[in-house]
Amino acid sequence: MPELAKLTIEDAQMLLREGAISAEELTQSVLTRLFAVEPVVQAYLSVQEDAALDAARTADARRAAGDDAPLLGIPIAVKDAILTKGVTTTCGSKILKNFVPPYDATVVQKLRAAGAIIIGKTNTDEFTMGSSTEFSAFHPTHNPWNMDYVPGGSSGGSAAAVAANETLGALGTDTGGSIRQPAAYCGIVGLKPTYGRASRYGLIAHGSSLDQPGPMTKTVTDAAVLLQAIAGHDPRDATSLDAPVPDYPAELRRSKGFDGLRIGVPKEYFIDGLNPAVDTAVRNALILAESHGAELVEISLPHTDFGIPVYYLIATAEASSNLSRYDGVRFGVRVPADSMWETYFETRAAGFGAEVKRRIMLGTYALSAGYYDAYYLKAQKVRTLIQRDFTAAFEKVDVIFAPTTPDTAFKLGQKIDDPLQMYLTDIFTVMTNLAGIPGISIPAGFADGLPIGLQILGPALGESAILRAAHAYEQLTDWHHDHPDL
Ligand code: GLN
Repeated sequence: MPELAKLTIEDAQMLLREGAISAEELTQSVLTRLFAVEPVVQAYLSVQEDAALDAARTADARRAAGDDAPLLGIPIAVKDAILTKGVTTTCGSKILKNFVPPYDATVVQKLRAAGAIIIGKTNTDEFTMGSSTEFSAFHPTHNPWNMDYVPGGSSGGSAAAVAANETLGALGTDTGGSIRQPAAYCGIVGLKPTYGRASRYGLIAHGSSLDQPGPMTKTVTDAAVLLQAIAGHDPRDATSLDAPVPDYPAELRRSKGFDGLRIGVPKEYFIDGLNPAVDTAVRNALILAESHGAELVEISLPHTDFGIPVYYLIATAEASSNLSRYDGVRFGVRVPADSMWETYFETRAAGFGAEVKRRIMLGTYALSAGYYDAYYLKAQKVRTLIQRDFTAAFEKVDVIFAPTTPDTAFKLGQKIDDPLQMYLTDIFTVMTNLAGIPGISIPAGFADGLPIGLQILGPALGESAILRAAHAYEQLTDWHHDHPDL
């Protein structure tokens, strides 16, 4: 029997069902692994050891009584941007360092209902603003493949925890790439669902028209299993989609590999400055798919160049509005001062980090009278053009293949003083959020010992198509069997 912490969700489900292992043994193995590697990886902001073991014993009792909930007894980590009832949720910010939510986010409620065990809360850039997890107010997280490198961000804690076998799977959130980019950097699978596929209720809001929670796992099948658990309509999220949830794992089992799949190759994603190893990895994936029955179609997404400016206008505008609630009165930390206004100023000055302040200023500027039309409104119009690019593309193809990021992980500290360089790591991921479509990143190779991510995009509610393509690729390759030496 392998070390239980190293199991996939799929294999653990099987062993739990057969009675070969107990949820308590599995959870204990994950905790043992976690405490052994956390001193170097630092993926977690908090670990709920006792609650997790309690929940594991409850899961074993449920199973003994005949319960077979899909995630019964499976340890899952949750990004600290997602509310967990009674468990401190900071979103990587000092302003929320003592915030204990009175309710669970819908996705957490759904995980618990499916029998999952919440093992801990993972590190994130403050308010999910960042691409390296270095903007966490508490500590950075290290890339398990090389401790001198970032794990990506903002769901860097979840990505590192999965890669280091400190959990079987995790939830992240993705506003402009925060699930897919760290998944690519850490060599795991990360799926951003269609906007509205999973509920945003109980997510700490960054850009409300962009945010989506999603699975981060060791394999594509595991991503399908977790997506299945969290997807669905939620009346408490006004933008949640009221569409039936397919049985994603069952559809994956029935899927026909690459045979007959039309794969779009967007010429705008193969740019100067792309790391040649990343370019080669994606092109090799295309050759492999074609040799197994896929049809490659060159497509154009002509507004790709505008992705970064449009994203950083819309996301910051929405963030500046969303973050106005942290005023020291209703949530988290308060710095008392002589007047109400001074309390607001002092609390926000002390509570927010530099990147969050920069975003609030950028967003407030883009929304201010006199600049609104030139920046925010214009960005919204270009967003519509970006959406139309994808709509036109998906008339010709079933999925699109692209790099997840232009390069592999960078060194800790390398981009921390250069916001623009940091923002440019999102160049291939932000469009997906602007268009509201789903995307997945899967392991597709290595360069100098650091993982490379292949990104697969699909039309709105096309999760089954991207899972199918991702799974077909995974079946033909061995990258997901490689694990960092820790
Ligand atoms: N890195 C991007 C940003 O800093 C995306 C963040 C995210 O998806 N939460 O905004």
